This record gives sequence, C-alpha cells and structure tokens, in this order.
Amino acid sequence: MSAMAERIAAVQERLTRAMDRAGRKPGEVELMAVSKNHGPDAVREAAACGLSLFGENRVQEAAAKIPECPGHLRWHLIGHLQRNKVKAAVELFETIHSVDSWRLLETLERACDETGRRLNILLEVNVSGESVKFGFDPANVPDVLRRSPELPHLDIVGLMTMPPLTEDPEGARPHFRALRMCRDRWQDETGMPLPTLSMGMSHDLEVAVEEGSHIVRVGTAIFGPRPKPQPVENEP
Ligand SMILES: *Cc1c(COP(=O)(O)O)cnc(C)c1O
Repeated sequence: MSAMAERIAAVQERLTRAMDRAGRKPGEVELMAVSKNHGPDAVREAAACGLSLFGENRVQEAAAKIPECPGHLRWHLIGHLQRNKVKAAVELFETIHSVDSWRLLETLERACDETGRRLNILLEVNVSGESVKFGFDPANVPDVLRRSPELPHLDIVGLMTMPPLTEDPEGARPHFRALRMCRDRWQDETGMPLPTLSMGMSHDLEVAVEEGSHIVRVGTAIFGPRPKPQPVENEP
C-alpha cells in the first residue's frame, strides 16, 4: 500500500470509529480531501484510493488544478472568497463553504443568474467571537436566512465554522457544539432546513463527528505536510 493509501485508510478508520461511538449512521458524514497547495498528481492518487470530494481554498489555484484532475471529482471552495473571484468560483465549485456576507451572496446570485447555474452555499459562522477573522456574526444569520428567497439560484444548505486552532482537539468542541445549537435554533426560528454542518479538520475530526458534523475537511492527515503555496499569476 502506498503512503497515501495508508494515510487515507487511517483517516477512514478514525472516521468510522468516531461515527460508531457517536451513533452516527453510515453515510451521514462525508470525508472531504483538502488538496490546497498540492498538485494534480496528489489529487489523482487520492482519487485512485476512492475519494471523490475535494476542497480548495484559493480560486486561482483551483482554476489551474481542476482541469488537470479526473472529471468525476466534486469540488468545494472552503477558503475566503473575494468578490472579484466570484465568476470563476461559480464555474469551478458545486458548493461554497465560506460565504460570510450578504454582499457576497448577492454577487454570487448575480453570477449564477448570468450563467444559468445553481450553487450550494454554506454560511461560515464565527461562533468563537473575535479570535477568528472570517464568518458571519451569529446575530446576523437569521435575517440572511429570511431574505434568502431573494437569491433564487443559491441553495443555502447549512453552516460551516473554523474554530481558533488549539493543540488539544477538545478545544474545538464548544465551537462545534455552538454551531450545531445555532443550526437547531435557526431552523426552528425561520423554518428553513439547514441539513449540512461543515466542521472538523485533520486533528479534530472525531470531536466534530461527535458534535454532529456532516462534512469533515481533511488535508494534512490525507496528503501529509503541505508544501508552501505555489505562486499563482495575478494573485495579489
Ligand atoms: C486547510 C484547511 C483545512 C484542512 O486542514 P488540515 O489541518 O490540513 O486538515 C480545513 N478547512 C479549511 C477551511 C482549511 O483552510
């Protein structure tokens, strides 16, 4: 077995154990391979091991990489999206996990309208307060959900969060739990279903599964240490 195949098997084992322990049903949690900073060869190798959902954090890197990768793969954007990259993002990704303003939602809606596409959206929520840079203030999310009929090409299917990094994975638990409780409350308040929670990374995926995650975003544990980002033309 290749080193990559061994790492993927180990991640799948961790995921299965955590799901068993937490009473989650098979198929309820999807493993996303976060391929940022890795080239198409690494993606092909992971795809050959059976993975089909990949995450990227920069639009331009993804635009160069995705055409070099097998065509059956599904791609999600998990990094901060600038409005001048929206057109490209809409063409590359089926879901965007990192939407954190109404203005960005409007820009995405316009781009989808122009190209006749639909897009799945996860709202990134800053449940941790000021210690993380991106994400909606939770107080603003119910209004966004109520106004979502103004965005007919966008399907807001859930929430994502990135807790501040702590050495102990247990440090993420209160943030994951807070996101799930926000989800439950907002569903009740607005009547809008939010079926998907995107939370958990290499070091805290077990905690995320226990707290209700549906997509764990795993980079290092699948691909090994990340090389430095490749310089991309036109990137500021
Ligand atoms: C890089 C990244 C990950 C994966 O992190 P690992 O610790 O390598 O698993 C997950 N989510 C987001 C938003 C990222 O940028």
